[in-house]
Amino acid sequence: MLELISHVVRISARRDRTEINSAMVDALVDLFHPERLTIYRCYAGKRKTVVFACAGHGPQGPFLRNAYLPDNRFCQTVDQDPLLNRCRKELSAVLDVIDAQSHRIVFPVIRRDEPMYFIDLQLRDDFSADQRVSLMGLIEYFGNHISLLDYGEADTLTGLASRKTFDKHLFELLGQAASDELLGNAAAHRRRNASDGGNHWLAVCDIDHFKRVNDTFGHLIGDEVLILLSQVMRQSFRFDDQLFRFGGEEFIALLQPTNQASAQATLERFRKDVENTVFSRVGHVTVSVGFSRLMPNDTPTDVIDRADEALYYAKRNGRNRVDCYEHLVTEGQLTAKEISKGEVELF
Ligand code: GH3
Ligand code: MG
Ligand code: MG
Repeated sequence: MLELISHVVRISARRDRTEINSAMVDALVDLFHPERLTIYRCYAGKRKTVVFACAGHGPQGPFLRNAYLPDNRFCQTVDQDPLLNRCRKELSAVLDVIDAQSHRIVFPVIRRDEPMYFIDLQLRDDFSADQRVSLMGLIEYFGNHISLLDYGEADTLTGLASRKTFDKHLFELLGQAASDELLGNAAAHRRRNASDGGNHWLAVCDIDHFKRVNDTFGHLIGDEVLILLSQVMRQSFRFDDQLFRFGGEEFIALLQPTNQASAQATLERFRKDVENTVFSRVGHVTVSVGFSRLMPNDTPTDVIDRADEALYYAKRNGRNRVDCYEHLVTEGQLTAKEISKGEVELF
């Protein structure tokens, strides 16, 4: 009992998903001695649901991955694992026999009728009913703590990540890019090569003539447009692209590593999705998008400034279009910003 409480206290002290996962793994291993344990983060998409093994305890000991940056190598579609898939459909704990001594049990952590996490444990059959009750209590507590954390970090209108979390995410990405380069990180190189030798990209999306929407239909309908737009955005991008509401009617997408052409194609698809959406009372709305490549020595301001320049170019040149900063510089449409720190293009 005391041990359980002390673990709950440790989890409750954390304010970061990765750290919470780490404390949760410690708690589960200490208290319940699973033979194996995986915490999956779940990304429910329109077409498919993907799970990311973000923490756990395997034959080689504990493992922990950045919970905010799903790594493709440890992601799979949920239907590749029948037990996880059953758990997703039934939204309750599911069990499977492994051998004469042990079983596998998966608990969902649910929010708004969608699984947010799966806790997957391999336990010995002498696991008692009391232990199971404590385990379920701990998992429920874990879900509540994560929900509270998300509530604090999300934008209240659209539910997307808010400005508050943006800098932290970007620094993490930039930190990862820089350290990959410095260390000559082979895994990172493979990761990028596997995804067509690409880079992370940052896109700034701004609604065209949004002031008119507010002026014509009122602020409340304007807010409705923002909510619907965020839904279009969620459906249009991949599960591992990160989306933020950056300010009033400005949104940011941080794209997973890819090449310039496919970043352009992804953003074009989003632009078209918006163009083709009927925003109930307002009718059609369009967005302009500017994007730029993330460089290892960037500060968040550097990369946002470049994407903004491309966005202003899109605004000046007819709106409802997607423009790439690097492309505009190559084409001589924009003059390159003075590259003070990143003269050497490292990746
Ligand atoms: P442009 O095509 O050049 O972007 O024109 P615009 O009218 O969209 O640009 P501008 O930045 O001048 O106006 C943005 C407007 O967005 C101003 C403000 O009234 C509105 N806005 C900002 N935040 C919110 C919000 O949270 N809700 C609503 N309803 N309107 C907002
Ligand atoms: Mg604006
Ligand atoms: Mg605007």
